Amino acid sequence: MDYFGKFVYMIHCIDCDSAWSLDEEDLKKDRLSCHDPSCEAEFSIYDGIKKGLKVYEENALQANSFLANYIFFHTIDVKIGFMKNCKLPEGVLRVHKVWAVPLENFSVGVSNITSEGFDVFTSLHENTDTSLFGLDAKVMLYINANMENYSATWMHLLQLSLKNLVDGDYSTSILFAEIAFESFVDTFLFHGYLEKGELSEGEIYDLLEDKKIPSKVNTLMKELYKTKLSKMDDWIGWETKVLRWRNQIAHGSRVLFDKEEAQYAYSLAVDAIFYFAENIDLYFKSIGEPNGLFYRT
Ligand SMILES: [Zn+2]
Repeated sequence: MDYFGKFVYMIHCIDCDSAWSLDEEDLKKDRLSCHDPSCEAEFSIYDGIKKGLKVYEENALQANSFLANYIFFHTIDVKIGFMKNCKLPEGVLRVHKVWAVPLENFSVGVSNITSEGFDVFTSLHENTDTSLFGLDAKVMLYINANMENYSATWMHLLQLSLKNLVDGDYSTSILFAEIAFESFVDTFLFHGYLEKGELSEGEIYDLLEDKKIPSKVNTLMKELYKTKLSKMDDWIGWETKVLRWRNQIAHGSRVLFDKEEAQYAYSLAVDAIFYFAENIDLYFKSIGEPNGLFYRT
């Protein structure tokens, strides 16, 4: 099976519709250039990833791609009206999504999806010539899957936020968006303090239990990584809307939110996460570390 894309992120051009999977070469560059030669846009890896995470409605194929580190393309031969089992390569841990596209005038569906493979079944449309039954045809498959394990809780939460946003469950989407951001912050604070070596694991746990999220994103992030959320462009929106909404939902004082509010919360969670990702990278670079989150030397 052909595949591409080893990384979990989709880079999306900030000016046009071009998108591609983040690769090793992109990680080495300071600025990315659009893959479309007629587009002259240049942008940072962070802006490319942020845009990739935000473009979800225009192209349903992208809805899950940021959690899959492999994307397989494959064309199989089928007999119209018969089922065919399709095996995935060894090492697939989880399949996120399978799209099957018939290359002629028939219907196709996929069932029994596991990490080993799935069944592709085909049938004729209503009122089509039944003599097509049993004929050889082709089906194009597009599969989002994971072949490497990674345990980034915030990323899974962000994906749940996006899924709920697309499904129209807005208050759950807002809650997941903000918790994804908080999980990202806690993860980096925990590992940052551990690395510093002044506090035991138990003491770090207690510290993170005690502090409220506004002090974590400002005081503690400043102490460890010389960055604070209050310098982000839409800090006010985060503090007065998204954080407040999250508390209202968690405490049950408000349950109804609309699509615009959920889109805003998801988009701001993406911005806040990558605001810190960029600034943590800058901090690591400034102290001469060879690797950050999204750069390598
Ligand atoms: Zn472009």
